[in-house]
Amino acid sequence: VFEQRMDEAGAERLNLHNELRMAIERRELKLHYQPKIDSTTGQIRGVEALLRWNHPERGNVSPVVFIPVAERFGLINEIGNWVIDEVCRQMHEWADEGMRTRVAINLSVHQLRQDDLVARIEAALKRHALDPSQLLCEVTESVAMGDPDTLQRVFDGLARIGVFISIDDFGTGYSCLINLRQLPAAQLKIDRSFINDIETSKDALAIVSAVVNLAHALGLKVVAEGVETAGQRDILIGMNCDEMQGFYFARPMAAESLHDWFLGNKPDGAVDFSPSAMLEHIPT
Ligand code: C2E
Ligand code: MG
Ligand code: MG
Repeated sequence: VFEQRMDEAGAERLNLHNELRMAIERRELKLHYQPKIDSTTGQIRGVEALLRWNHPERGNVSPVVFIPVAERFGLINEIGNWVIDEVCRQMHEWADEGMRTRVAINLSVHQLRQDDLVARIEAALKRHALDPSQLLCEVTESVAMGDPDTLQRVFDGLARIGVFISIDDFGTGYSCLINLRQLPAAQLKIDRSFINDIETSKDALAIVSAVVNLAHALGLKVVAEGVETAGQRDILIGMNCDEMQGFYFARPMAAESLHDWFLGNKPDGAVDFSPSAMLEHIPT
């Protein structure tokens, strides 16, 4: 039974792989954008770009499912390169419409091993006439700590061209504090599993509070991900957490919806912002 299940799982991955290959050709992949809110001003500090795949038969396939498939079958660099270019194109289009914002992309460990990653990002920024400080690269903590030499090289390269760096899902890996201190990262994103428990678990509360203090002591900004309730928001504000992201504020949304919001049409379920607050958020 075990072997049969293994075979089935393998076959399913292979199917997904073939379909993902076609999806890239057919341009079925899209990016959605989720706001990050400044805890002190309540304004949007930037957005995170998140891949979406709307499969003609399967419906929406989660990036949690297809990113590992893309990594395993060597498609991640192609997808990652598309994300870099698409995000830059989108930032330029928004800027033309009067909306300047900072966008975060997620980088896979495979992309970090691409020799030309930094040059590629620099070229995309130039091609779309963007300031490098408008881009932020998120790297998952477990990845960040797995291969410190590669990471240091890429991070130094990104810092040199002026791109911000963030350590994602912080708390799920095993960070070596020495490495953390040496990386030119700008922010830590606390994993949403801790935020989820912050109202009910003293341990989670203690961990989040300690991480906020640690990050601040290292000169890093802290972002809490997965904020779903007003209670969580209030606790995080009380801890001086710098930015918050989560369904409580807004779900990831299409580029047009974000722009609509900017024009004053709030998406369903999002917190209330005045358009002028949206305008002012835009950091340069
Ligand atoms: P991540 O970078 O940690 O992204 C945050 C995930 O949390 C997103 O899931 C987002 O939709 C979800 N989220 C945000 N707020 C809440 C909340 O309040 N509650 C809950 N339960 N979830 C919330 P998503 O979009 O499914 O992405 C999952 C992961 O897939 C990402 O985690 C990232 O690791 C990866 N991913 C997404 N897009 C890309 C990409 O373009 N490149 C790479 N390499 N990985 C990506
Ligand atoms: Mg992320
Ligand atoms: Mg995360």
